[in-house]
Amino acid sequence: MLMRYIETKSKCYPLYLGEEGLAALRSVYQQLQPTPSAVLVISDSSIAPLYMKQVTEALTSADVHTYVIPSGEKEKSFENYYAIQTYALEKGMDRRSVIIALGGGVIGDLAGFVAATFMRGIRFIQMPTTLLAHDSAVGGKVGINHPIGKNMIGAFYQPEAVIYHIPFLYTLPQEEWRSGYAEVIKHGVIGDAHLYDWLQKEILSLEDLRGEKLQYALQQAIAVKAKVVAADETESSVRAYLNFGHTLGHAIEAELGYGRLTHGDAVAMGMRFALLLSERIYDVDLASVAFAKWLFGYGYPKLPMELNIERLLLRMKQDKKAQSGEIRMVLLRGIADVCVEEVQDKVVLDALAQFIQTENL
Ligand code: ADP
Ligand code: ZN
Repeated sequence: MLMRYIETKSKCYPLYLGEEGLAALRSVYQQLQPTPSAVLVISDSSIAPLYMKQVTEALTSADVHTYVIPSGEKEKSFENYYAIQTYALEKGMDRRSVIIALGGGVIGDLAGFVAATFMRGIRFIQMPTTLLAHDSAVGGKVGINHPIGKNMIGAFYQPEAVIYHIPFLYTLPQEEWRSGYAEVIKHGVIGDAHLYDWLQKEILSLEDLRGEKLQYALQQAIAVKAKVVAADETESSVRAYLNFGHTLGHAIEAELGYGRLTHGDAVAMGMRFALLLSERIYDVDLASVAFAKWLFGYGYPKLPMELNIERLLLRMKQDKKAQSGEIRMVLLRGIADVCVEEVQDKVVLDALAQFIQTENL
């Protein structure tokens, strides 16, 4: 069982990762001070039938409550947020109560935001059940969607612990593995050249992401994320690096309509584009063609031909992270050598035109 600390200015807490996550949960929970008055485990309808019982059995508390929402990104809603608050109040939960988020990014964000605001904030524990959540569960971003935009309402709020019980992951659907793995690759590219090489050598197909290799990949990816978050909890400087592949990735997701592609498939497109653009801007060789081939080998889809590059450009300019109308891109001078650059529209458009061609050669 691996344990490391996630350090942020506001808090330092443990992350457990391994085959014995349930035992870690049991002991973390028992050691909480003050002793929890009640606990509420929040999960979704795909995960709860598989794992809810194992989790509640690990909690030795008089009052164990559960709340299950349907699965899906659209459930990260104000309605569910409000319904859970109502449920917690009706059950008599108080400031000494604890929330456990059992699920992927949707549950982590929603349950975390409930915890951040219920009676001005109560303790919570994250139990991520997806590969993608190695990213979202570290860093303390919690929140819900608004019909006008994703993640528009939220907070920075750190959990008491993050506990990855690896056996929970093995029921993930194939496309969710691929989606989460894109962020593992991202963490290698932006922060760990050794991890990047190791993935290329050791993970020849997604089926190789099992056992020790899965654990190693997760551990190294989390280390990169943790390092960035420790340096910049609230996203004022280096945290922008984590946006690598996301400026175009988010634009593609929004343009196609959310749910058409997984987040990771869109981010993989964004990373391929960022490599190509970096090569053009810095005149360096990042082996962008080999990188694309490597990703296609895992089954990441090509950029859909139907996308219009002017519209993508407009979307990129609406990005939350754009400043004064200029597109800000996270680019590379080399692997694990990141720069944030304002790139002129014309440069982005030309590169997009080249990108859409090379993708579909
Ligand atoms: P993320 O944002 O981390 O990808 P989501 O909360 O969107 O996570 O979950 C992705 C999908 O996978 C959802 O439909 C969810 O119900 C399902 N899911 C999450 N974890 C598991 C698991 N361990 N086994 C099976 N399905 C899962
Ligand atoms: Zn992402």
